[in-house]
Amino acid sequence: MSWAKALEIYARTAPDTISKDVLLRFMDDTITIRDAYRKAMYHYLILPRLPSSLVSNPSQISSLKCLLSGDKEEALHVLQVLGKEAEVAKTDILEDMQKKHGFQWTVNIGFHAVPSMEHIHLHVVSSDLLSSALKNKKHYNSFSPKLGFFIHLSDVLSWLTEGASDSRLNINSAKYEPLLKTDLSCFKCDESFKRMPRLKEHLEDEWKKEKRHAVKENARKRQRGADGGEDMERAAKKHIGEKEVASLADGQ
Ligand SMILES: [Zn+2]
Ligand SMILES: [Zn+2]
Repeated sequence: MSWAKALEIYARTAPDTISKDVLLRFMDDTITIRDAYRKAMYHYLILPRLPSSLVSNPSQISSLKCLLSGDKEEALHVLQVLGKEAEVAKTDILEDMQKKHGFQWTVNIGFHAVPSMEHIHLHVVSSDLLSSALKNKKHYNSFSPKLGFFIHLSDVLSWLTEGASDSRLNINSAKYEPLLKTDLSCFKCDESFKRMPRLKEHLEDEWKKEKRHAVKENARKRQRGADGGEDMERAAKKHIGEKEVASLADGQ
């Protein structure tokens, strides 16, 4: 089996026979799996199952490029089905972030303009880009959310709905591939880097900084919430008298 075909094979496999380490969830038309070489702390893939009733011709779902060059209504439908599952995955990720790290950070949903594997797959990937499998410039640039090689689902949906003849629907590899060679720079602060190890250290610092900020912000919000509660109690006491407030609080 060639590596490029691995996803297509998962898409054809009965979900209940796929290892639980790989499969997260399945529906009639889709499966959600873990990326085998995750490029961030959270990295899942949504694939349409095969054979698929979503399209009239299976070759349409071999890639985003094929999908967008075919019937636009079918394309929109496929993207909506994949997108719905991506939102479910994202919700799970955000919950897990909160539980394990005490804050939530951005989760990106999108496609690679030029995929390295066959069969269309939607990436759901956290924006930290912290992973030992993220090794080189090509890896980083393919997930850098502002560069353009990673095409956000929301962008594809707007191209499709803005006009079926939108030129951006023509995914031209020759236009996208050079993006992978772009000089390294942090997608958050634009600082440039000569080498991956330095960029990776920097990404880790960025994530820690975001965490510190978010945790502080959450604490402030909680504090404000508590203050707000006291204010309301005070106002209520003024209006209806202490006794009534006390009895309300007792649930009497
Ligand atoms: Zn991919
Ligand atoms: Zn930065």
